[in-house]
Amino acid sequence: MKVMVIGAGQMGSGIAQVCAQAGYETYLNDIAPEFIEKGMKGIEKNLDKLVQKGKMTEERKAEILACLKAGESLEAAADCDLVIEAAVENMKIKQDIFARLDSICKESTILATNTSSLPITEIAAATKRPEKVIGMHFMQPVPVMTLVEIIRGIATSDETYKFIEDATKEIGKFPVEVRDVPGFISNRVLQIMINEAIYCVYEGVATPEGIDEVMKRGMNHPMGPLALADFIGLDTVLAIMQTMHEGYADSKYRPCPLLRQYVKAGWLGRKSGKGFYTYN
Ligand code: NAD
Repeated sequence: MKVMVIGAGQMGSGIAQVCAQAGYETYLNDIAPEFIEKGMKGIEKNLDKLVQKGKMTEERKAEILACLKAGESLEAAADCDLVIEAAVENMKIKQDIFARLDSICKESTILATNTSSLPITEIAAATKRPEKVIGMHFMQPVPVMTLVEIIRGIATSDETYKFIEDATKEIGKFPVEVRDVPGFISNRVLQIMINEAIYCVYEGVATPEGIDEVMKRGMNHPMGPLALADFIGLDTVLAIMQTMHEGYADSKYRPCPLLRQYVKAGWLGRKSGKGFYTYN
């Protein structure tokens, strides 16, 4: 199978890695060479770690890397069987990408989006093939986390669903079907908790370390909500909260003002070096 992954960020590079590991001919796309280089380096680093730990041979690593190509050309999607979009969480950008893909790709190509919260139906409406558009929501870090939420838009066909369900299993993930509602299941439940943890910082209830310790030691969460927010990216957390706030028209999804302020400051978490914690 030939796959294009769009967006070489945290998610796109992970998705490209697992596709290549499944033996798919994979093309990783982004808008500029520096993003592509960063994504490809991330993949090599992940594979190197597996080799160092004795979980992968050098030969296997070379085999996986041989399945990977990368570049800025969206035209390379022309002969792909599947495109998985993992660009930024922005409806306009996603709709532009899908409209372009619709004119570039062959008729049979399935177009999937890794959006965290945006309506699949609305993204699909930018194409003339809404029956072939679907949500394929991976979790971070993609090579480690086994869940993929599969979300049908209103027009998604059974054939498209089956194709994505099979592909999800083939790359070693566990599919769960979810209706096309803002935030799906994962983020509808998770982001409320993260946003509430941010409110606790905002109101001075405790330090970020204190809040994370409560959730780790008290609730047995492997990671505290603020460390997790930094890991996801605070821009993405804000975008998801805004989508749910607008989509459900319910004040329980209102993003914390401190979250907005951090994003305005460019404090996006791990990827920018600063969020609720500081990173090298
Ligand atoms: P990121 O900021 O790490 O990466 C986004 C990448 O998209 C960047 O490299 C950027 O250059 C690229 N990009 C922007 N516009 C583009 C375009 N027009 N064409 C091609 N590439 C473009 O973000 P991320 O965390 O990888 O998130 C990507 C998507 O995955 C978002 O929709 C997000 O909601 C979703 N998602 C994120 C997580 C998470 O934990 N971060 C989990 C599941 C889903």
